[in-house]
Amino acid sequence: MTAVAASIEQVRSRIATAAQAAGRNPAEVRLLLAVKRVESTRIREALAAGATLIGQNRAQELVSTEPDLDDVPHETHFIGHLQSNKVNQVMRWADCVQSIDSAKIAQRLDRAAATRGRDLDVFVQVNTSGEETKAGVPPESAGELAAVVGSLEHLRLRGLMTIGANSPDPGEVRASYTALAQARDAVVGSGEPGTSEAHELSMGMSGDLELAIAAGATMVRVGTGVFGAR
Ligand SMILES: *Cc1c(COP(=O)(O)O)cnc(C)c1O
Repeated sequence: MTAVAASIEQVRSRIATAAQAAGRNPAEVRLLLAVKRVESTRIREALAAGATLIGQNRAQELVSTEPDLDDVPHETHFIGHLQSNKVNQVMRWADCVQSIDSAKIAQRLDRAAATRGRDLDVFVQVNTSGEETKAGVPPESAGELAAVVGSLEHLRLRGLMTIGANSPDPGEVRASYTALAQARDAVVGSGEPGTSEAHELSMGMSGDLELAIAAGATMVRVGTGVFGAR
């Protein structure tokens, strides 16, 4: 077994333990491998070891690694800040964009999807910690943006995404994940067109995935825990 395969197995067992502790079915929590700064050969190793879902932060890396992975079945999500001038590249290579943080970028993606003759899965990114360095809309604006996204013909709103509080205090981290779950409940219950299927909660990383799963994560994004520090 490769080192990457062994690490994936360890992370899967953490996910299973955390899900069971929370009274949840481990199958409800998907593992997304955050592959920033990982060479294509190691990404291929991870996919060969049974990973199916990867996430890229930067359009440039997405464009340079995806062609190398074309022959391996997998799903790729864009999880970084998306600039307007990168929309077409992302549309070409990503299956889903998790980082929608403005109506403007949503509208651009919708038009690009229409041009390509496809639909695109998306998440709205929420800044649940209030940290200035973090992208995303404040929780109180999530409903408004979700309604805009839901109204766009070629975008399919799947759920919400957040980067948890950067804090040594587990209580603060937990609070940011609980806030995302509450925002999701409000979106799904809003009755706005295109929002009723937005059940996903993409939250939790290598250091805190247990807290995220306890708060209802349906997808955890793990980089360091599988590929080491980069
Ligand atoms: C890098 C990254 C992760 C993974 O973080 P690790 O601490 O390396 O597990 C998750 N989400 C996003 C948006 C990232 O950029």
